Amino acid sequence: MRVAVFSSKSYTEQTFDAVNASFGHELVYLEPRLDRRTATLAAGFKAVCAFVNDELDAGVLGELQRHGVRLIAMRCAGLNNVDLGEAARLGLTVMNVPAYSPYAVAEHAVALMLALNRRIHKAFNRVREGNFSLEGLTGFDMHGSTVGIVGTGKIGVCVARILNGFGCRLLTFDIQRNPEVEALGARYVELPALFAHADIVTLHCPLVASTRHLIDAASLNRMRRGAMLINTSRGALVDTAAVVEALKSGQLGYLGLDVYEEEEDLFFEDRSQKVLLDDTFARLLTFPNVIITGHQAFLTRDALDAIARTTLQNIADFENRRTSTRIVPLDRLKKS
Ligand code: NAD
Repeated sequence: MRVAVFSSKSYTEQTFDAVNASFGHELVYLEPRLDRRTATLAAGFKAVCAFVNDELDAGVLGELQRHGVRLIAMRCAGLNNVDLGEAARLGLTVMNVPAYSPYAVAEHAVALMLALNRRIHKAFNRVREGNFSLEGLTGFDMHGSTVGIVGTGKIGVCVARILNGFGCRLLTFDIQRNPEVEALGARYVELPALFAHADIVTLHCPLVASTRHLIDAASLNRMRRGAMLINTSRGALVDTAAVVEALKSGQLGYLGLDVYEEEEDLFFEDRSQKVLLDDTFARLLTFPNVIITGHQAFLTRDALDAIARTTLQNIADFENRRTSTRIVPLDRLKKS
């Protein structure tokens, strides 16, 4: 099938080309992000392949449909950037990659925890400048620390396994209990209790209406003073303005982000020659106890390979009119 691949990068092309050798789709790589200005590039394609920061709102979906697009093959798990109700109304099929490598994201979340705790970002720069002072680099043992995991699905359970190996105490919250997490000795509690007792809070739930700004001024105030917050899930789970205030007051002791609520206009591009216009983001960058990565938690060779395989199989299934469990089920459409 002819597919317009939006937001394409060199690593997208390399992996998709390698995997596509056994599928034979005609992939046309397009650098621009999919939005209202660029949707017209999909004219003549039956399928588009899009990523986390592409904009698939009602307007864009309508235009894609008018151009003859019938399949939206998302090469990611989260569907928060797709108006699923409108897609269903327009008769567009939306497919995603429900699981690729939960290890990639879980390991990145733990990397952020360790780097923040042991101030690796500070130590790296100091040693390179010949400064071997240890002042201000004191960390804490992960062993015996309490970690609150919000969302114990595929990624949350991997985080729980890794941290269990470190000897952390695990508190968890989810709308659905995962017996595998309980078997590790983790204790499901309500969110206020998790916030009150955790030294580290790490977010692994999806972004839906009920989880938007799950971390706001009230939840930050419930946390232990000086706690660490890690978000590798979706930016809008966190009210960034509230987090800035909590960092200023010392209520929040560390912040590790791989996602940001306004990341669409920032991430995945080299903006080093441009003035940063987002004042909230700029303020975040001034804190010594904040580490931000630009939505790279998924970026391992293994994850990219799995993403390409599932996406290209999804497209083949659609083309061959095979029903697939990867087609977003109707009950999920209704929830979003
Ligand atoms: P998953 O569906 O396996 O697990 C999500 C879990 O969250 C489920 O157990 C679900 O019951 C739970 N949940 C749903 N609503 C909740 C709520 N209101 N409160 C608490 N828990 C709730 O998904 P996953 O594969 O573990 O991925 C988790 C999230 O990670 C995705 O939604 C996505 O946003 C994010 N993600 C980020 C990257 C990255 O590169 N940074 C990559 C992949 C996924």
